[in-house]
Amino acid sequence: GSPCAKRIKLSPDAQDTLRKVDEWLQPFRLSREKLREVSSRLRKDLIRGLGKHTHRRAPVKMLPTFVRATPDGTGDIRQCELWRTWPVLVYESACGVISGGPLSSSCFSGSSPRGASVSLHALLSHSVASEKGDFLALDLGGTNFRVLHVRVVEEQQKVLKMDSKICAIPQEIMLGPGEQLFDHIATCLSEFLESLGLKDLTLPLGFTFSFPCEQKDIDKSILIRWTKGFNCSGVEGEDVVRLLREAIHRRGDYDISSVAMVNDTVGTMMSCGYRDQSCEIGMIIGTGTNACYMEEMKNVKRVEGEAGRMCINTEWGGFGDNGSLKDIQTEFDVEVDRNSLNPGVHTFEKMISGMYLGEVVRLVLIKLAQQNMLFGGKVSEALEKPDAFETRYISEIEEFSKKLQDTVKILAPKCDISFLVSEDGSGKGAAMVTAVAQRLAMQSRL
Ligand code: BGC
Ligand code: MG
Repeated sequence: GSPCAKRIKLSPDAQDTLRKVDEWLQPFRLSREKLREVSSRLRKDLIRGLGKHTHRRAPVKMLPTFVRATPDGTGDIRQCELWRTWPVLVYESACGVISGGPLSSSCFSGSSPRGASVSLHALLSHSVASEKGDFLALDLGGTNFRVLHVRVVEEQQKVLKMDSKICAIPQEIMLGPGEQLFDHIATCLSEFLESLGLKDLTLPLGFTFSFPCEQKDIDKSILIRWTKGFNCSGVEGEDVVRLLREAIHRRGDYDISSVAMVNDTVGTMMSCGYRDQSCEIGMIIGTGTNACYMEEMKNVKRVEGEAGRMCINTEWGGFGDNGSLKDIQTEFDVEVDRNSLNPGVHTFEKMISGMYLGEVVRLVLIKLAQQNMLFGGKVSEALEKPDAFETRYISEIEEFSKKLQDTVKILAPKCDISFLVSEDGSGKGAAMVTAVAQRLAMQSRL
C-alpha cells in the first residue's frame, strides 16, 4: 500500500508496521469532502462574527480594523473629503452600528482589481510627513520582538528599512506582569535609539501587535486576550498603546509622537498590496495563524456606513473554540491544547501553526514508539522534553506551498488566487499605517 513499501523491499513484519503507522496517521488526512465541510463551517463563523447581534458570542471575532478602501465616496461629506485627499485608504474611529445587506458572495472568494491597495502608491506619495518620513516600528507577537527604524521615501515610493534590532523577551517576562513587559519594550527601544543617535528626535511609531484587539481608533486598541506564548497579567481589557506610552514616560529619556496600531495580517496585506495592487487578503501561518481581508462595508454591521470597504481582522485562530472542530481534532491536538497556556482557546491555531505543530508531531512520535512501531519501541529522553521537536523540521520535510495552492484551487474553483510572499510585512506594514495616520492627523489640524 504505502509508497515506501514499493521502493524498498520490506519484510512482512515491517510492512505490517508501516500499515499500522499509516492507520495512526489517518486522522490527519482530511478528505476533500471533509475539507469542503470545514471550509463551509468557517464561512458560517465568518458571517456570525460580522453580524450585529451574533458577533458577541462568535468564536471567529471578525474585528474591524478601520483600514478602509473606498471606491468613489458616497458616504457623508467628511468622509468624501478625506477620500478625495487620500483616494483610498482611510483610518477612522469606531462609530455606532447600523444594519446592512447580506454578506457578499465575493467574500473570501478571490480578489477584485479595486482594493485596499488600489492607491497605496498614491497614498504613499502623499504620506511623507514633515520629518523626512522617518518612523519607528515595533513588531511584537511573532518569534522575535523587533524594533525598527524605517523611512518612507516619496520619490521612489518605497519603504526602506534603515536599521532593526531583535530583542529577546525572556519567558518570565512573557508570563509576568504587563508593566514589566512594557518596561522591557521601552528599554529595548531606548537602547536602539541610543545606538543610532536618534534619542533626541520624537518620531511617530507604528506598532505591529499580533494579538486579537478591539480597535477603538488607530491609537487605541484593547487587548481581547493573549495568545501564543504570552500571558502577562493586567493587559487583557486594557489599551495597549496607553501601556506602551506610560512605560516610555516612566523612563523619561526619550519620547515618541503619534502611534498607529496594526495587526500583523494587516501589515502583511498592505506590504504585498504595495507590490501587487490587487492584493486584498493577508494571511499568516507563523507562530500563530490569522487572516484579514477587505470586506464590503455594508456587511460590516458593527460599523456605521455602507459605502466602500474595510479590512477585517478575522482572528480565525479562534475557529473551533465552540467545539465545531471536534470531529477533526486528533487525540494529539487535544493534548497539545490541554498542555497549552490557554486551554480551549484558539483551537484552530493550535492545529496548524508553528508554535504547536512541532509539539503535535512529537506526541505522535512518542505514541508510535510506545506502540513499538518506531525507534525500536524506545522513547528517548530528548523526545520526552516538551517542544523538543521544532516546527521548522516539518517545514524542511514538507515544503507546506504547492499542496496549499492546489487545495485552495479545489476549494475555491471559481477564484483566481495567487500567493505572494510578504517580505517583512510586520515591519513595513506598521510604517505604512503610521504614515497614513500621521498624514490624516496633519490634515485634520489644517
Ligand atoms: C493572533 C493574531 C495574529 C496571529 C499571527 C494569533 O495568535 O491572535 O492576532 O495575527 O497570531 O501572528
Ligand atoms: Mg510577524
